[in-house]
Amino acid sequence: MTYDKNNIFAKIIRGEVPSSKVYEDDKVLAFHDISKAAPTHVLVVPKGEYKNFTDFVTNASPEESTYFFKKVAAIAKDLKALDSGFRLITNSGSDADQTVEHFHIHILAGKKMGKLLPKN
Ligand code: 5GP
Repeated sequence: MTYDKNNIFAKIIRGEVPSSKVYEDDKVLAFHDISKAAPTHVLVVPKGEYKNFTDFVTNASPEESTYFFKKVAAIAKDLKALDSGFRLITNSGSDADQTVEHFHIHILAGKKMGKLLPKN
C-alpha cells in the first residue's frame, strides 16, 4: 500500500490541521495527542513520508533514522519524562490498532502505566 498524503499527520505536518506543538524542526514534529492516554502523551513524527516503523527503518537513511530516534530521546528529556520513567509505543498494522498511517512514536509519561498489555 502506498503512503496516503491525506492522512491526518501529513495534514498536521503541512499546517493544514492545527496541533499543539511541543517541538519542530525541518525533519521532526512533536505534538500532544488529541486523546490523552496519560498525563503526558506526545506524538513524535518524522516529516518524511513513512507509513509505519518498518517502512521508516527500511527506507529512511541511517542519518535520518538516527536523528529521529535521538530527537525522541531529547523530547522525552525536555518533557521531564525521564524523572520518573516513560513508555514509548509505536503501533504497526491492524493487530496493533494503528489508526494513522504515518509513522509515529507515542511518548507516554506522568503516571504508573502498569503492565504492557491488559490480560484478556
Ligand atoms: P495509533 O493508533 O495510530 O498508534 O495512534 C494515533 C494517535 O493519533 C491516537 O492516539 C489519536 O488520539 C491521535 N490522533 C488522531 N487524530 C489526531 C489529531 O487530529 N490530532 C492529534 N493531536 N492527535 C490525533
